Parts: sequence; structure tokens; C-alpha cells
Amino acid sequence: MRPAVLDPLFAPLTSLKGVGPKLMKPFGQLLNRAEPRVIDLLFHLPYSAIDRRARPKLGEVVPDAIATVKVEVERHIPGRGRAPFKVITSDDTSTLEIVFFRLPRERVERMLPIGETRYVSGKVGMYDGRLQMVHPDRVLDEKGLADLPEVEPVHSLTEGLGAGIVRRAAMGAVARLRDLPEWQDAAFVQSRGFLPFAASLRLLHGPSEPADVAPESRLRARLAYDELLAHQLALVLMRNEMKRDFGRNNAGDGRLRAKIEVALPFSLTGSQRKALEEIAHDLADETRMLRLLQGDVGSGKTVVALLAAAAVIEAGRQAAIMAPTEILARQHHARIAPLASAAGIRHSILTGRERGPARTRLLEELAAGEIDLLIGTHALFQEGVDFRDLAFAVVDEQHRFGVHQRLALASKGEAVDLLVMTATPIPRTLVLTYFGDMDVSELREKPAGRTPIDTRTVSLDRLEEVVDGVGRAVSEGTRAYWICPLVEESELVDLAAAEDRFRFLKARFGKKVGLVHGQMRATERDEAMAAFASGQTPILVSTTVVEVGVDVPEATVMVIEQAERFGLAQLHQLRGRVGRGRGQSTCLLLYKAPLGETARRRLAKMRETDDGFEIAEEDLALRGEGEVLGTRQSGLPGFKIARPELHRDLIETARKDAAIIAARDPGLATARGKALRLLLHLFDRDEAVRLIEAG
Ligand code: ADP
Ligand code: MG
Repeated sequence: MRPAVLDPLFAPLTSLKGVGPKLMKPFGQLLNRAEPRVIDLLFHLPYSAIDRRARPKLGEVVPDAIATVKVEVERHIPGRGRAPFKVITSDDTSTLEIVFFRLPRERVERMLPIGETRYVSGKVGMYDGRLQMVHPDRVLDEKGLADLPEVEPVHSLTEGLGAGIVRRAAMGAVARLRDLPEWQDAAFVQSRGFLPFAASLRLLHGPSEPADVAPESRLRARLAYDELLAHQLALVLMRNEMKRDFGRNNAGDGRLRAKIEVALPFSLTGSQRKALEEIAHDLADETRMLRLLQGDVGSGKTVVALLAAAAVIEAGRQAAIMAPTEILARQHHARIAPLASAAGIRHSILTGRERGPARTRLLEELAAGEIDLLIGTHALFQEGVDFRDLAFAVVDEQHRFGVHQRLALASKGEAVDLLVMTATPIPRTLVLTYFGDMDVSELREKPAGRTPIDTRTVSLDRLEEVVDGVGRAVSEGTRAYWICPLVEESELVDLAAAEDRFRFLKARFGKKVGLVHGQMRATERDEAMAAFASGQTPILVSTTVVEVGVDVPEATVMVIEQAERFGLAQLHQLRGRVGRGRGQSTCLLLYKAPLGETARRRLAKMRETDDGFEIAEEDLALRGEGEVLGTRQSGLPGFKIARPELHRDLIETARKDAAIIAARDPGLATARGKALRLLLHLFDRDEAVRLIEAG
């Protein structure tokens, strides 16, 4: 299936020299994939580069810039308990304090022996009027320095992976790259000044100037465009495939829907009615439905999905609702079951957990048409799951954009109408990026009866007052989240900040404080979450690495530190963790004064509105103005390279380009078409290639 030229890039990462099996786990974490491949490392682009050609003296260093300085080690100050280890160094112009958290003393002593000269690279900050460097990126002696390239790429890292290992592995991966036929339009490539794919990757991992790896670099833009085109092309090919079949009239007579509405303890909002009308129209239509239902968490998507399914069941066919996780599938089922039963809809649940005779019976009933509505996880589209007549599928994406899962579910029936739901409001311009040309319904109106969350911005100077507030809330029996942000590229430094805050709060609240972070094992994390949910530790300090996904209705306070560092959409998601119960909830956005103009506007927006759509649009607009955020917070989910604030113009171009390609060369049979197949493979959009080959 996959052209052999690509095989070396899809080999496991362990096939590279210097990457043993022990490194699979940290690399897996770094590259976000259980069994990382060479290509995954190639797409893990450096986020900056250190220019070692110039070496400032300490006295000339610009605070907060990355610098490589030559220093002499004077003194070690080991930290007591969990306090950091400090090393005092100097040159003939000034002194530099180097700070390490959570690093064994012996390692620091070996790295920076007293009396020796070392080259240290990293961000130099000012702290209490002194120059300070926290966790240098590099500590090198003369020889080590000579081994390093003059312009050294800097990749983000994770625990257990040093910069040297990642860089050398990346060089090994680059050596695997062969020149590939060009899949982009030649005139376009030329007009943008793009280099070929392989050459771009080579230069990004082995830059000759720091500008090569800069966010706005043309090399990066080239790869972002490749990624965007691969995605758009996959979407348009899938859409064409789906639209090839005629849809069936799946609109029922309304009898089940009427019963459900009577059973509902509330009346539908205007938005819900409008979305249902749009869906009903699609169901009755001759073409297949491909619709996206967008709405904030709590906007009432579930009942829309149920009523839409009921319409199809009225027409005598079956419906399925797929959730991304077991927990969510069960939650959906628990909510839907009473309503469905009230209307006489036969329903069931299928996940990996249903096994044995019960499962066999369920599958028989499904095939016989004795189940009208099946709710479950991806288990729904596995082999052996056969519907009598599936006509409608709902996919609750929750940020997962697996095209092939949607396809697999849709292929369980004839001309299945598809509704994709997402709780992350996405601006219209970006809907195209994620989903291609889908029809969109939005639930903008909130169900009645919610108490809005009281959102305030508070300077960090008033930390004591905030802590007092948390204390009051907790003494009243509620719970509080305390979020510490990811600020640095190094998770360790961030973790140190969260641990500091944890200790600080513990000094005041003792055993009432819990901590959860990304370096914990899953079981420890679950325990910490359970202790919070049960009220044993009503204050939970957390880094954002951990998605605080569990629903805790008793939580009424959300404190977010350095809120100015977050994307608005992320703040909105975090804020959505409170305000789920009855009482008044509060969200405190702590910031470090002084705030810049854009940061001020962004935080003000959070105070002004609770509308996820408005926030998402503002976020995009303000980021467009060049607000610099941590890279981890600004990517497009599901994309490795493309970033909306940088590559906005490319998104639209890719969409048009993909449409033209699909119209002219739908089977990807021309020379460019064949090259485009390579592109689809490289970006894991090969389910689209399979479609073409099957069709
Ligand atoms: P979503 O899936 O969009 O996050 P849900 O469908 O889970 O939201 O709905 C959140 C809560 O709001 C549920 O308890 C649901 O019963 C309730 N709800 C839904 N629609 C309405 C409405 N029109 N009026 C009042 N409550 C509603
Ligand atoms: Mg939902």
C-alpha cells in the first residue's frame, strides 16, 4: 500500500542509531504516539535555534534572551529539602546564578565543577537584580562546544530525553530523507520561495541561521502548507466519496420526537430548535448529510442528537452515537436512556467492556433490528458489529479528528447521514481547516437557569486575598481548582512552579491540598482526582498538562495563574470546569503586572463574555496581531506544524487547491497525483488513499 520510498521514514524510531528500546517511552511521550516512527521525529521541529557564533560577556547579555556565555564556576549552594540547587559563576564582567530544580546534586557537581570553565546556554533572566539562568539548555566544556554546530536547533524535550539525544536522533532521521517528487504546484512553490519538502526538513533540523527555524520561516511555512493540503485533500476526497451515494429520505413523522419532548423536564432553546430543523431538512434531502453541530460544553447537544436519532428511528431505521471514551459513552447512555425509553425507543450500549454472551446477544439484536439506538465507543465500528439498517450516525468528537473513524462508522450502513458534534467552538474560518466543507449548526444560546460564572482578573500582588477567598469557599464545603500554567518549554521547570504553589498552599491549608501533574502515573492521577471529587482534598493544584476532565459539580472556584499566558479558548475550557452545580461560581484570572495592551484586552474579553464562539473569534483575531504564546498552547489540535495565527492565509489556499485537485484528478492518477499520494501518507491521511484505491 505505502510506496516503498517512504518505508525508511515509517520505520520505528528505534531503527535509528542511538535510540534504544528504553528511549521509546520518553520519545513516545514527546511525539505523542505510543510507537513513534522516524517521520514523527522529523515533524518534531525545533522551536528555536541557539546562535553560538556570537558570545556575549555577562555584562552585555540582554535579559530574557537566549545566550551562550563562557563562565567560571565559583561556588555550589545545594538546596535544602526540595529547594533548588544554585551554582554561582562569573566572568570578568558580572556574576551569573545558575538554578536547578529536582536534579541530583552529584549531577550538578559533575556538570559544573568548581574552578572550571564552562559554556552555558539558556535564557538569562534578572532576578532580584542578579543575572539568573534556570535549567540551562546546555552546559559544555571546550570539547563539547567544538562538537556542536554553530547554529544549534532547540527541540522541546520531555523527562528522560536530553537535548543531545533528541538532536542526534533528529540528525539520524534527516539522513534517511530522500528527495521526493514535488507534489505542490510548481508556480506556487516558486512564488512563495519554498524549498522542496526534504530540503526544508534538512534545513530546519540543521539550520544555518536562527531565522531558518523562526515561527515565520519559509521552511516552516512550506511544511505547514504540505500538512494543510494533505488534510484538505483527505477531507475533499472523503466528502466526494460520501456524496457519491444518494441519500435516503430518513425524516420520520414526528411521533417519537413528540414523546421525547413531553418527557423532557425543560423546553428546547431557540438554537436547539433551529439546529433540529436544519438536521430534519438534511435527513429528508436526497443527498447525504454531513453536518457539524457546534456548541459549548453544557449547551445541550445531547438532546439534539437524541431527537435527530428519533427522527430516523421514526422512519424505521437505526441510529448510532459514538463517543471518544468509555466514560463519555456511559454518560451519554445514562442521560439518554430514560428519555429514549419514555418514547419506546429500544436502546443499548456497546463499548470494549461488553463481552461474552451479553455481547453476542446484543449483536444479534442489532442485526435483527431489535435495537433502534446504539450508543458506544469506537467499538461500534469494529468488525462483527452489523446493523440491520443504520441510517444515522452521530460522532461526538471532543477534539479528535479521525477521518477514518467517521468513515468506518458511516460504512456500517447505506448512505448513512452523519452528524459530528464538537464542544470546542471553532471560528468559521477554521471550521474549514478542521472539517472541510461541512454544513454547520451552532448552539449559541445557553439553556435557561444557569448562574453565570463570576470572572475576575486579579494581579498576583493580591495573592493573599485570593488564598483567603479559596479558604472561605472550601470552608463552605465547595472545591477549588488552582491551575499553574506551562510557561517554559521545559516541563520540569513548570512542574517546579506547580510544586512550589502546592507547598505554599499546603502551608496554609495542610492536608486539604492535592496535586496533579503530567509526570504522574495514570493511577496516581486518578487517585488525586478522586480525592478531589470526594472532598478529601478540596483544593487541587494542577498543571495544564493534565486535562482536568472529570466532572466535579461541587467545584465553584477556578484560579488560573499567569492567565495572560493562556490562549482564550483554553481559559474558556478551564473556566467551564466550574459553574456546573447550583451555587455561584467564580473564576479568578491571576496575572503578573504590568500587562501589555493585547494581554489586557484578552483578559477583559474573558470577563465580558461567556460565549465560546465570541471568545474563539477574539482569540484568533488577537493572536493574529502577533501575541506570542508558548508553542504548546497555540497549535491546531490534530496538526503538527500548521498554526492558525501564522498560516492563516495558507489555510484558504490549501482548501481551494484541494478542491481543484479533486475536480481535475479525482483518482490521483497523474504524475502530481501520484506525488500527492506520498504527501497523504507522510501526514497520516492515507485513509484517503485507500478510498481512492477502493473506489
Ligand atoms: P453538551 O453535550 O452540549 O455539553 P448536554 O447535552 O450535556 O450539553 O446538556 C447539559 C445539561 O443541560 C444537561 O443536563 C441537559 O439536560 C440540560 N439541557 C439541555 N437542553 C436544555 C434546555 N433547553 N433547557 C434546560 N436544560 C437543558
Ligand atoms: Mg456532550
